[in-house]
Amino acid sequence: MIEFELLGKKYNAIDNCELSIYLNESCNADCCFCIAQMRYEDRAKAFKKSIIRSDAVYFEQLDKILSLIPQFIKSVTITGGEPCLNPRLPIVVAKMKEHGFTRICVTTNGSFLLRKEGNSNLLSVLIENGLTNLVLSRSSENEEINQKIMRFQYEACSNEDIREIIRISSSHGVNLRISGIFLKNGVNDLETLFSYVSHYSKMGCSDFRFRELMDNNESNMCNMEKIEFCAKERVLIHELIASALKDKRFFLKKKIEGKSFFNNYVFDIEGATLVLQEEDSEYVNDQRNNHNCIYGLVVHPNGDLSSSWADGDNVLLKYE
Ligand code: SF4
Repeated sequence: MIEFELLGKKYNAIDNCELSIYLNESCNADCCFCIAQMRYEDRAKAFKKSIIRSDAVYFEQLDKILSLIPQFIKSVTITGGEPCLNPRLPIVVAKMKEHGFTRICVTTNGSFLLRKEGNSNLLSVLIENGLTNLVLSRSSENEEINQKIMRFQYEACSNEDIREIIRISSSHGVNLRISGIFLKNGVNDLETLFSYVSHYSKMGCSDFRFRELMDNNESNMCNMEKIEFCAKERVLIHELIASALKDKRFFLKKKIEGKSFFNNYVFDIEGATLVLQEEDSEYVNDQRNNHNCIYGLVVHPNGDLSSSWADGDNVLLKYE
């Protein structure tokens, strides 16, 4: 636990506390399990965030917040929604570098990374501005199945796009992780998992992560479509981990417990790293009940800094 002071108030934070910049809620996909949406609805809140409209005012507020972030926090993730839809993204990445963050990550569905930006593309601009890590969400290596789950409305990210994203990232030393969720009609067992990892490994990606669907507080939620989808599609990760531990193709390199919301099972599959993340319920309950500790900081598009994904909750610095 690390103690820090912000605007004269003392706080305790976990050692691996990270900063997240939540850029916007809009997205060109409509994943049946969208975690960004569920995180809100789980708290009986509507998924509609207020924003600072003026770029100049937003960046001024962001600079103010970044100058207050305690020095021990060196990792930042820029997320949404789809952050690449927001024209502020390249400047936000540059600001993270300016303020000394050493791990600067963007989570994305990949759709706009190859969009033209002058003579270059968005991904190259982000790399030039300081991007160090990229987490790309992908439900299946099969385009048709992926579309059924992610439901891109326009500019879907294709496997050929991913091939190019992997090429650009690896030639510039950016760590690219491809991330998925186990679903009955998607990647649902060791065979489909192996085929997914092999498919993108052959393109040059060597880092993968899979989780199970989150538990939601259904009594708070009214989005019946998503509730029903999650109930129908849930695949229990502990059963898959148990099978992987017995399968010669999956070599357990290490298990990391008690350090985050997930217990991480780190496997080697033919030279690629696959992390299976099982929710650590003890850790999650601690976080729910321990209101004196900060597990992560989030800058919301309305200019507030809070320790919650839901804007308006646990605000440390309010934009006024
Ligand atoms: S790509 Fe991400 S933000 Fe967009 S709908 Fe899917 S889970 Fe939600």
